[in-house]
Amino acid sequence: LDPQRRVLKADLRIDPEGRIDALLPPGRGPYPRERSLSLPGRIIMPGLIQSHVHLCQTVMRGMAERLPLIRWLRERIWPLEAAHDAETLESSARLGLLELLTGGTTAILDMGTTRHLETILQTCEQSGIRAVSGLAVMDVGTGVPEAMRRDVDEVLTETGALLQRYGPGRHERIGLCLAPRFIPSVSEGAWRRLSDFADKHDLLIHTHACETREEIELTVQKTGTTPFRYLERVGVAGPRLRAAHGVWLDEGDRESLVRSGAGILHCPGANAKLGSGLADVVTLWDAGVGVGIGTDGAPCNNRHDGFEELRRAAAGIATLHGPEAVDAARILEMAGPAGAHLLGLEEKIGSLEPGKEADLIVLNPAAGPGLWSAGDDLHAQVLHGAGRENIEQVWIGGELIVRRGVLRGWPAAQVLRQTARVARTIRQRLEDPS
Ligand SMILES: [Zn+2]
Repeated sequence: LDPQRRVLKADLRIDPEGRIDALLPPGRGPYPRERSLSLPGRIIMPGLIQSHVHLCQTVMRGMAERLPLIRWLRERIWPLEAAHDAETLESSARLGLLELLTGGTTAILDMGTTRHLETILQTCEQSGIRAVSGLAVMDVGTGVPEAMRRDVDEVLTETGALLQRYGPGRHERIGLCLAPRFIPSVSEGAWRRLSDFADKHDLLIHTHACETREEIELTVQKTGTTPFRYLERVGVAGPRLRAAHGVWLDEGDRESLVRSGAGILHCPGANAKLGSGLADVVTLWDAGVGVGIGTDGAPCNNRHDGFEELRRAAAGIATLHGPEAVDAARILEMAGPAGAHLLGLEEKIGSLEPGKEADLIVLNPAAGPGLWSAGDDLHAQVLHGAGRENIEQVWIGGELIVRRGVLRGWPAAQVLRQTARVARTIRQRLEDPS
């Protein structure tokens, strides 16, 4: 994928800094044997970029079934997040990263929880992924556990202390954002402070908006207006804003969104599982809104599978607009150039072009039946047929991170054992808070 959506038969050369240096006609070699790989019949494409995930929730998979969003948050997810300490959070992030990376996701926009952001950033760093994350901000609202409430000053002080290491341009792969959770749990004063801080330090603002009708009702009760109108009023709606969902937008709200230049992070799996609804991606595209893709949290999906999520987006588009609206290349681009833009990394990743980082996945069509196709549209073949069984290699910044399903440095059995132990700890804390 490049801006022309070309499909090339080519040799790909990576420079010592881990960037793509050239796409050469195949067989141009000879290449030095010890520094080249022969991958006949494979499909090489940009690593998937997921612009909305919650690493802190991976350990909660299966602990919050059959609930609609607001009850899911108040009765299960927030109390579970409140039970995290740095150790349990690290395990949760590790399992999430294992699943994302072995599934071909090479970059994420994460919503941290309200504490221990440094643990998430460090765990991402160890894994080799490219990630942007921030402290989830919750300072008001019904059902928010005491342990999760933070004063916005505290959040900004903590974020400020991390700028030195993870601020814009500081770290090769890890970045910071601000992450006000959603309108019902963030005060007006906090929104304004966050907006000023984001402008001053050039940070993205990562939030949720227009996910369910109940959330819209809570927003209208609290603010007298709908989510994007409100975000515009408090000065947050702008090109820095990244809002997950965008399912329930009335015309005025959509106009506010379009005017602001904010991006929408489409999570069709989570929206379907919680019965929230289905975002109209085509209408957003037609209005010029940038749309990314995300698996959201493990308890609401329940998988962190980028290819599966892209297929759900395609199914949603066909459901609302008919199959002729399914533009496979454009849907893949939600996890490519569009995703890169939403992470603020469009100069670095999202396509296979000289000068970009070598973040890529190697698919082997012979490794599983789904990717075999009698057609000649490679974009459609990958969108509709690729699965994690086809992922032979995952590269980030020119480093081989995943080889035949195995993540460098993190044996899956060990990660799963550790997560199971930590899940028991969290469950016990919930049952016996003393
Ligand atoms: Zn979310």
